[in-house]
Amino acid sequence: MISLEQLVRPNIWSLAPYSSARNEYAGREARVFLDANENPYNNPYNRYPDPLQLEVKAAISKVKGVPAENIFLGNGSDEAIDLPYRCFCRPGVDNVVAIEPTYGMYKVCADINDVEYRPVLLDDHFQITADRLLAACDERTKLIWICSPNNPTGNNIVREEIVRTIKGFEGIVIVDEAYSDFSSQPSLRSELAKYPNLIVLNTMSKAWGCAAIRLGMAFASKEIIELFNKVKYPYNVNLLTQRQALEALNDPFQVDKWVRMLLVERSRMIEAFKLLPNCQMVYPTDANFFLAKMDDAQKTYDYLVDRGVIVRNRTRVQLCHNCLRITIGTKNENNELIAALRQM
Ligand SMILES: *Cc1c(COP(=O)(O)O)cnc(C)c1O
Repeated sequence: MISLEQLVRPNIWSLAPYSSARNEYAGREARVFLDANENPYNNPYNRYPDPLQLEVKAAISKVKGVPAENIFLGNGSDEAIDLPYRCFCRPGVDNVVAIEPTYGMYKVCADINDVEYRPVLLDDHFQITADRLLAACDERTKLIWICSPNNPTGNNIVREEIVRTIKGFEGIVIVDEAYSDFSSQPSLRSELAKYPNLIVLNTMSKAWGCAAIRLGMAFASKEIIELFNKVKYPYNVNLLTQRQALEALNDPFQVDKWVRMLLVERSRMIEAFKLLPNCQMVYPTDANFFLAKMDDAQKTYDYLVDRGVIVRNRTRVQLCHNCLRITIGTKNENNELIAALRQM
């Protein structure tokens, strides 16, 4: 890997970040806070939250097995997806490479930041090789986006190819593991120490059941985390979110229980779909959803909407013609979907 300084946009490298009142006193004992122009009344909402979310990071560190200095927390993964563009990619100059099809936000953020987006089509098994990703790169490629388990396809990308990509690329490889809690494959975050150019994303929005609070995570080298901290909004994760996250992190066994239930339901739903006369196939999945190829996805989608059941129609996505993406719900919700489809 080339040095971080060579990868980072020069204006970001030399940026003098905003220093908040809470940044400056940090760590020392204090009783009277007259430094931030807050209202002294209306406790606890009157006070600015911890800009670096140290308590939440300590809890995540325990659950995820990653040192706190290697954790960034953001307003959803969305923030952790946008920051690499803002830190590494010069608008109108640099480019990024990504698997295709995948999660839509990587391209939206590229477009917003005026960065060229280079999609590389997966094969018929929704897989990719390191060679094909690296062949799409040039000297202005700063980021490679891999999502595993991938959305909307549901499968893991072969680990060996991800590792070869990380080893073979001079820039930053971002592996989005939003669904890794549902996966049989171990997370790449345990390999962070080996790969200084790796960023692993995770989120409280899926297995943790906290999509509403907006808390996303990036795991990376201390240097990359410091860079993100410099560029992010000073108070990017609000107090309510930090509190609710701490509560959820206090009970990781609840998440294990949910995941186990959802995996049982996933198997049941896949078997039920395979028996539907208008379902051609169900693709292998390692996530809390699966992709099903139907005779006519649009017709099935419209039929379900009429019955108040919403699934995701992916028929216009490359390689996903006539595919519906089905999220695993509660047993009752899943039964409603299957019952409706059996009456179609
Ligand atoms: C759902 C999802 C996320 C989560 O985004 P948040 O902003 O954290 O809610 C991230 N990546 C992928 C691939 C997803 O499908």
